[in-house]
Amino acid sequence: MHELDRTIWSSTTRRAGGEGLRSQAIQVGGIDVRDLAAQHGTPLFVLDEADFRERAAAMRDAYASGPLDCVVYYAGKAFLCTTVASWVAEEGLGLDVCSGGELAVAVAAGFPADRIAFHGNNKSGPELRAALAHGVGRYVVDSFEEITRLAALAAEQGVRARVLVRATVGVEAHTHEYIATAHEDQKFGFSLANGDALEAVRRVVALDGLDLAGLHSHIGSQIFDAAGFEVSAHRLVRLAVQVREELGVEVAELDLGGGMGIAYTAADSPLDVREMAARLQDIVAKECADHGLPLPRISVEPGRAIVGPTTFTLYEVGTVKQVDLGGGRSRRYVSVDGGMSDNIRTALYDADYTVTLASRVSQAAAVLSRVVGKHCESGDIVVRDAWLPADVTAGDLLAVAATGAYCRAMTSNYNYLPAPAVVAVRDGRSTVILQRETVDRLLALDPGVTRSPGAG
Ligand SMILES: *Cc1c(COP(=O)(O)O)cnc(C)c1O
Repeated sequence: MHELDRTIWSSTTRRAGGEGLRSQAIQVGGIDVRDLAAQHGTPLFVLDEADFRERAAAMRDAYASGPLDCVVYYAGKAFLCTTVASWVAEEGLGLDVCSGGELAVAVAAGFPADRIAFHGNNKSGPELRAALAHGVGRYVVDSFEEITRLAALAAEQGVRARVLVRATVGVEAHTHEYIATAHEDQKFGFSLANGDALEAVRRVVALDGLDLAGLHSHIGSQIFDAAGFEVSAHRLVRLAVQVREELGVEVAELDLGGGMGIAYTAADSPLDVREMAARLQDIVAKECADHGLPLPRISVEPGRAIVGPTTFTLYEVGTVKQVDLGGGRSRRYVSVDGGMSDNIRTALYDADYTVTLASRVSQAAAVLSRVVGKHCESGDIVVRDAWLPADVTAGDLLAVAATGAYCRAMTSNYNYLPAPAVVAVRDGRSTVILQRETVDRLLALDPGVTRSPGAG
């Protein structure tokens, strides 16, 4: 119950040693979670900086050690703030953004513009203008309208835009399963099946102001093996062959997208980063050899696999309720001070998480519990089934592992809950990298507020 599975928790997360149960609280970055809670409040996202940098560097190195040149782009949508953007830059990765807001964060961080890639199925005119003015390195185009618009805006600004054409390769991957040919019906990309992808490349090549940088595909998220990538690489290579034959243009780069999975619980066993990188390198090299294509550069765009495991959420326990289910069965509901506003993934994707008592250890028996939030919604579940000590009580701290990706990034203000702060911890120091929202700030958006809260 108190053991920390190394495949789930960040590298500096551990239980403090020493005599007495009170002293066996979780530490991360050399800091006791009770001190973090006292200093920064809860709920709190606690990000292990050393672990983030290790994962970014490991990803970069794993993909660099193959026959093909490879650039790793960190998918900023998983979690982004200026501090994280600066770590990504320092570790030598590129950065994917998919809105004007994410681009603004990158710009505010001074992220090198030529290493930024701009994604999205509905980039607006002002977003594209801002990106062109900033000198963004590449655009992953997603519609014929966008190709026309981007070319016109580039011409207007007297610049050229480097473009990857996003192909819908007909693969949908999720954890260890993938479905080939089954997923044409979606908003992203150009269909390979009906020739749209080839037509998109033709238009990019023909238009002044646009340079073809390569072909792109992204097949899903939380993927555990290389099978889906194998199919998508095969189909991208086939498109590259068509581009060469019909347009006389050599495709310089294949981008295989992101989606590399992580372990949320002991039941998850994703391929290790090096193995996945080696598999992808081999697959593309073999496909190109089979079709007589020169070796392209490749790129990948992991988000979750870099930031997910670096962070846990620290909550304080409030109400603990034993609910009679009849037939002698019961369920214990352990309520925490956040919930679906800071982690929507359980409600949205039926995601599973690992939770542990963080502020102490206990010798009480393990009780099957459900960790729930404080929102007015019975689906407001953080961890559906968790073994927690029978004596868990108000004031205890719980840590939910691997919440670095798509939790803070997907926060809402449901029930007027302010988004939690994010602190980075390293070598005994904690630094707020995103402040906690406040109710005052939320009220500042409301022109009807006539009395300042707390003024009675
Ligand atoms: C979401 C997304 C990613 C990152 O996905 P992860 O599962 O976080 O690795 C990469 N590329 C594109 C195009 C995406 O939409």
